[in-house]
Amino acid sequence: MKCEKCTTVISESDRYEHAGRSLCEDCYLDSVTIIRTCDPWAVHSAKNTISQAPGLTADQQRIFDHIKAGGPLTMEQICSDLGISEEEFRSNFATLRHMELATGCKKDGQVYFTLFDQPSEAGPV
Ligand SMILES: [Zn+2]
Repeated sequence: MKCEKCTTVISESDRYEHAGRSLCEDCYLDSVTIIRTCDPWAVHSAKNTISQAPGLTADQQRIFDHIKAGGPLTMEQICSDLGISEEEFRSNFATLRHMELATGCKKDGQVYFTLFDQPSEAGPV
């Protein structure tokens, strides 16, 4: 008999059944491997989560790091520096504020965003 994928001649004892097809050992292993790793997005997100502060998405981490490095900053500054829309910033910042990592403060009629434990008076040096 032949492997249904690569048509290599295989004996009954070398036959592997996968998804209703008779395959040689190589093709069987290929198929099984592909199934195990066919969700690169899940692997990708898992890797991201490990290297970050717990619970933060990549965007939230970027916003947090940016405010930490250069805050207090206005929404316009953060959006143009990071290349995100106001809507993206708002939804991500809501999470940072909810986690008490960052907060907003008003200065000279402008809203500035700063870290939660960073005094609002302490501007960039
Ligand atoms: Zn094969």
